[in-house]
Amino acid sequence: MNTNHTDTLVINWHITEVCNYSCHYCYAAWKKPDEKRELFHDSNSTTKLLLELYNCIQFQYNTLDTSKSPTYKKVRLNFAGGEPLLLSKKLLPIMLEAKRIGFDVSIITNGSLLTEELMAQMAPLLTWFGISIDSTRLSSNHLIGRHTTHQQKLDVERLLSIIDIGKHANPYLKIKLNTVVNAINVFDDLSDFVERLSPQKWKVLQMLPIITTKNVIDEARFEKFIARHHAFQNIICAEKNDDMRNSYLMIDPHGRFFQNSPAEAGSDYVYSSPILSVGASLALQEIQFSTEKFDRRYASNNVGDSCDVL
Ligand code: SF4
Repeated sequence: MNTNHTDTLVINWHITEVCNYSCHYCYAAWKKPDEKRELFHDSNSTTKLLLELYNCIQFQYNTLDTSKSPTYKKVRLNFAGGEPLLLSKKLLPIMLEAKRIGFDVSIITNGSLLTEELMAQMAPLLTWFGISIDSTRLSSNHLIGRHTTHQQKLDVERLLSIIDIGKHANPYLKIKLNTVVNAINVFDDLSDFVERLSPQKWKVLQMLPIITTKNVIDEARFEKFIARHHAFQNIICAEKNDDMRNSYLMIDPHGRFFQNSPAEAGSDYVYSSPILSVGASLALQEIQFSTEKFDRRYASNNVGDSCDVL
């Protein structure tokens, strides 16, 4: 019998490493394999990867046989980065292909490249729209590195109005906010912004010291940030460092599973072989992924979906 807290398994495809922001803690840095070009550039390889993944996950996690456990009725492909909207015109066809194959589709973006037109086209394809905002203060965003080389920073009013367009284009669209808490924003109060955005889920992550230990915070300070936003406890999914280890199913821009263990400063990710070389099932065996830890995130909140985006 299935005892999961969720019926949807989430795969995060970090489709590109490139980003127009330069957050100091950014986890989006992967070892280059022999083939240095990111996989999405080749539409045949992209389709093969999506098919291979979907078929593997159905078999591995019993999406077709719900009498076994763990079991998931649906598989959601979450497009992450880098900044996935930098793919520009290439992203929507890939999302459409993923939907055609059977995935639910979602995205996590820094929002800087969103336009009214793009949102109107993309929203009907999505089940979740994720936006990463660490602070609404220009000075904090500057210190974190959440700006372009031309110093373009978050425009809250414009962002909220574009997200409204998405909500109108897809009345079922769910909104998620991701916030990485670090030494720069740890004293911020995001309550006004969260109220106006009105997300179904607010994922609050303690900065993970994968790439750097600069601006890390301890659990006590992280918990104070959570306590300050107590009014949003019904939508907050708080993740401390250990919650994040081995609990995400992730693919890098070169089509390899990767895992965030060991998560020590200066260490790198653990990688599988390329999925298109050895098949998704064998590649999956080469990394650690804990369905228990994945599922635990559902049990720890009452939002009705997991904290699923790193
Ligand atoms: S917006 Fe995301 S991908 Fe871009 S630099 Fe910041 S953390 Fe990295």
